[in-house]
Parts: sequence; structure tokens; C-alpha cells
Amino acid sequence: MDKPKTADIIIIGGGVIGVSIAFHLARMRAAKVVLVERKQLAGGASGLSSGLVRMHYDNPIEAEFAFNSFDTFRYFDEIIGGDCGFVGTGFVRIPHARNQERLRANVGMLQDIGIDTYLISGAELGDIAGYLQTDDISIAAYEPQSGYADPYLTTVGIAQAAKRHGAQILQGVEVIGIDLEGGRVRGVETSVGYIAAPVVVNAAGPWGSVVAAMAGIDAQITPFKHQATLIETPSLVPSPHLTIIDRVNGVYLRPETGRLSLTGISGGGQNTEVAIDELDGFGETPIPQIELNTLERLYHRLPAVEASAVRKGHVGVEGYTSDGHALLGPANGIDGFYMATGLSGHGFKEAPAVGQAMAELILNGKAEVVDITPLRPTRFAEGQIYEAPNAYQ
Ligand SMILES: Cc1cc2nc3c(=O)[nH]c(=O)nc-3n(C[C@H](O)[C@H](O)[C@H](O)COP(=O)(O)OP(=O)(O)OC[C@H]3O[C@@H](n4cnc5c(N)ncnc54)[C@H](O)[C@@H]3O)c2cc1C
Repeated sequence: MDKPKTADIIIIGGGVIGVSIAFHLARMRAAKVVLVERKQLAGGASGLSSGLVRMHYDNPIEAEFAFNSFDTFRYFDEIIGGDCGFVGTGFVRIPHARNQERLRANVGMLQDIGIDTYLISGAELGDIAGYLQTDDISIAAYEPQSGYADPYLTTVGIAQAAKRHGAQILQGVEVIGIDLEGGRVRGVETSVGYIAAPVVVNAAGPWGSVVAAMAGIDAQITPFKHQATLIETPSLVPSPHLTIIDRVNGVYLRPETGRLSLTGISGGGQNTEVAIDELDGFGETPIPQIELNTLERLYHRLPAVEASAVRKGHVGVEGYTSDGHALLGPANGIDGFYMATGLSGHGFKEAPAVGQAMAELILNGKAEVVDITPLRPTRFAEGQIYEAPNAYQ
């Protein structure tokens, strides 16, 4: 397809966030939507995501995004078309002992949103998943319907739906400059020429700061490495098994197809920062020490992992803001330039609702699906970082 010379809305980035914005804009009959991806769809964080689809959060805004996205994963074929690989394994969030009261408060908050979740005891968790070590657990939060999906299938499936609704998707085309005049955006310079547009959306994920800088904005998105490891599912463990986030040991686990399981470190610790100028060449090769550390953490919850062989691993990169929440909304001081970046460690499961919220904001002036004003990009300059009353430390 030929490169267009003009568009009504340009989206920079073909990860799960960019394609979701394109889909919702096109579905809502925005005129000419063009998405520009410098590599290929899902070529950034999205393609390497662990793909957990759960709704447990310690704050209402991420929970509302996850809740309002959940049906898109469950009923992908009806809503988007095709298969996103969603498997409803059930999900449990095991809190650190010091956070039990916060967990109780947060489960109440999540139930008020409408999320199917409740508290279970360690003994009840043992009944659900007898292969887990549960002696140290007094309460945990359970979501019977949650699970995981395939991030590549999800991203490409949403992109195809966006195309069917009329959006144009350019792959292998890099945005190298943003054209501004008199305080408003006029278009983008790309590796294959100029595209004029009155609206430009920065959905460049961990590269969000690089793209924002093209418009003179200091977005302060810090890229962090995140290593995931694929292991053979221990023979005593059923497949698919429960998806877990265990904050006592700092590890997560979910099944993968073909009697494999995917695991990684939860809650930081081993996830190292990547300098912006090294972002394009960062090593995707797994680090053996992190792999070993992940398996040691998992062993405390799943002793049977001792006999599991490691199949492979990968390192992806996530773009974090300083409060761990996305930048969603108009960029400060530039008419027509929007930010939908810095999704941190939760952008995959939230992408359907984030895309809808951004499309509503751009076309109607207000996001209806979730109130995104607490995540406005200007909040840091205003000294109003987003903090939840019962955040887990
Ligand atoms: C290992 C790992 C595990 C994760 N696990 C989970 C999980 O279990 N659940 C969950 O919800 N989230 C998870 N995440 C986080 C989630 O994957 C991200 O928040 C999400 O994928 C971000 O999507 P995005 O579209 O914003 O960014 P990306 O997918 O990175 O997309 C940005 C795109 O912009 C393109 N781009 C950059 N600069 C330009 C330019 N100048 N011109 C054109 N294109 C450009 C890039 O090539 C890239 O494709 C995980 C992330 C990683 C790395």
C-alpha cells in the first residue's frame, strides 16, 4: 500500500496500545486513521509480554481498565474477530503478610467495580491447586475467570480489525520528527517522507520519551528490562494450571501451550534500567543468574519445579513512569499531540479499554469508559502523582 501524504489522525507505534487506539478510532468512524510502526506489529514490549489477563490491582484506575478490557479477551472472536489465545485458568494473587489488610480493602474495591474476585484461605487455595505450597498463606485474592492470552495474536488480531474498519497500517516506517507550528502539531516526518495530520498520538511504549522529545517534551519514561523464562510444566502439575502472582516470593507463573509454563520475577528486584540511548540495542538474551533466581523464587511456592527443565527465555523492555501509571491524554502545550505511553508493566491486559478511552477523548473530548484524568501527562508537573490509598509497597 502506498504511503499516504495526509491523515486525520496518526498513531506512532504498532504495539497493543497503538493498534487498540487505531481500532477504536476506526470503529467510531474517525475519517483517516494511519498507524506508523517502525518495525513490525508487536515488535516492541507487546510481542514479548507475559500476557497475564487478571484484574487484581491495588488502585481503581488500573482495575477499571483491566475490567473493561476483560470481555475483549474472553469474547475476542465476537468483538474483534479471530483468536487471541485466551485461556481462563483462574488467577490468584498472594500478598505479602504485611499487606493483608490492604488486600481485604482492595478486594472490596474490586468487587465494587464489578470484578469477579473474592478472598480465599491458604487451605482453600490448596484445594484449588494442590501442587502449590500454601502453608504460609492465610488469605489470597482469587479470580476464577482470569488467565492469560497470546500477546502476538492479540496485537495482530486487533490490527486486522482496525484495518477492516478502514485504518491504514504502515510497517517498517519510522517517525523521525514531529512537525509543530504555532503551538500545534502539523504532521510527522517519517523514514519514507512527510505525512500531514492535525492529530498525532504517541503510542511508542518504552520509546515514548524518544518520540515525545521530537515535540520538545520531556516525558520521563524509563525503560526497564523484564526477563521471562519458559519451563517444562512439572509432571505432577495439570496443564493448564492456575495463573499466580506470588508477592511473598516475588514471582509469577502461568501455563503456556504444549505442557510448558511461563515464569518471571514480580515486583522488580532484578529488572534493570536500560539507558535511552541503548534502547535500540538492548540484549534480549536471557541472563542465567536471573533465570536461576526466578526458579529459586518459584520453588518456594511450587516445589515440583525442581525437576523442570528450562526450555528458553527472553528479555523484553517495559516503559515505566515514576508513579508506575500510564501517561494518557493531551500533551502539555501542543494542540493535537496526545500521549498514550508509559503503560509500565500492565499495558497488555488494559489495552482494549485504554484504546477505547483514547479514541473517546480524541473524537469526543472526554473518555467515557474510564475517567483518565488522573493519568493526564501533566500530573507530574502539577505535583499530582497518582497514588492509591491501599497501594502495596
Ligand atoms: C517480558 C514482559 C512481560 C510482561 N507481562 C505483562 C503481563 O503479564 N500483563 C500485562 O498486562 N502487561 C505485561 N507487560 C507489559 C505490557 O506488555 C506493555 O505494557 C505493553 O505491551 C505496552 O504496549 P505498547 O503498545 O505501549 O508498547 P510496545 O508494544 O513497545 O509498542 C510500541 C511500538 O512503538 C514502535 N515505535 C517506537 N518508536 C517508533 C517510531 N519513532 N516510529 C514508529 N514506531 C515506533 C516500537 O517499534 C513498538 O512496536 C509485560 C512486558 C514485558 C516486556
